[in-house]
Amino acid sequence: MDIDQLRAATAGCARVVHLNNAGSALPTTRTLDTVINHLRLEAAIGGYEAADRERPRLDAFYPSAARLIGARPDEIAFVENATRAWDMAFYSLRFGAGDRILTCRSEYSSNYIAYLQTARKAGCEIVVVPDDEHGQIDVAALANLIDSRAKLISINHVPTQGGQVQPADAVGKVANAAKIPYLLDACQSVGQLPVDVSAIGCDFLSVTGRKYLRGPRGTGFLYARRETTADIEPVMLDNHAARWTGANTYATMPGAVRFENWERYFAGALGLAAAIDQANELGIDAIWARIRLLADGLRARLADLPGVSLTDLGATKGGIVTFAMADIDHDELKTKLRARGVNVSVSTRFSSRLDLEARDLETVMRASVHVYNTETELDRLVAEIGLARRG
Ligand SMILES: *Cc1c(COP(=O)(O)O)cnc(C)c1O
Repeated sequence: MDIDQLRAATAGCARVVHLNNAGSALPTTRTLDTVINHLRLEAAIGGYEAADRERPRLDAFYPSAARLIGARPDEIAFVENATRAWDMAFYSLRFGAGDRILTCRSEYSSNYIAYLQTARKAGCEIVVVPDDEHGQIDVAALANLIDSRAKLISINHVPTQGGQVQPADAVGKVANAAKIPYLLDACQSVGQLPVDVSAIGCDFLSVTGRKYLRGPRGTGFLYARRETTADIEPVMLDNHAARWTGANTYATMPGAVRFENWERYFAGALGLAAAIDQANELGIDAIWARIRLLADGLRARLADLPGVSLTDLGATKGGIVTFAMADIDHDELKTKLRARGVNVSVSTRFSSRLDLEARDLETVMRASVHVYNTETELDRLVAEIGLARRG
């Protein structure tokens, strides 16, 4: 991987030390130009006409996304973000009184709110599978919780608040053996590490554009396994997800398109396709190796600083590095760093309550690396933390 070339192709690298890739990563100039050129084309010749002209590239989004995660193109739905992609799967499932949703402690807030709402409406139960000694979902405990009440296994692959990579494949084996639907929130993993839906065995997987994929904001997609989708009536349908076939009839479209809606951010979809193509070109194995190298380097640097405690869990740790500071407020540190051109973020209980509460953490600092970051930038972060602490 030619890091100088990667940085030259990413305008933001010249301006900021961007360590908020788990929030929204820097796009390449190629992705940015793709978005802007389409917006210009829409303004010049009309939105529908621009879409028709770019139809081959719009259609190419599906095989590109499918290739990245080992799916088939008709198993991909373009959706405006990971949460709505996840919602389209989750809210299309039916739960009754006494049914159980099995999830993990690191679960993301929006997903958990959906469980709570559904539990309230349907009388079903949320069961949080305990963590194992690595601080990741205990797969043996999950297997012990399988019974006739278990109707869904739903976890995240990589949480928003830490570097851990959940053992998604092992969870998939349990789900598939028990024939229980498996929904995987892969918002932080796709684009960061190799994700193969057939190896994982998930029925649904949700992805956002702006994080590790480096796509535009307001884009995402849902993977919906062909065999599962055939029997699922989406919670919402429009004239793209279904056809109005007679005055009193409609036919739901086959494939994942049934989870889409018609109107969309076309420039964004093209930008996301461009970003996915670049991930495929770089190679996800090389991306993952580079991200882990940088993240391990950052953890090593932070471990040497007094008053800093690393807070990442999991047997396998990726690009999201989190830590707690003894002597400076986390929000204050983030603000000071940003003023100096170093972007990090703070994860709060509003994004992951169960996990942070269980560990008695109010918030954690989050510095998330991507391929275009450098060792020099990691040194700079450490130096700036030192400056910020001194006043
Ligand atoms: C960011 C995030 C989401 C939500 O993604 P959106 O694109 O903002 O909807 C879901 N799950 C995890 C683990 C996340 O980090």
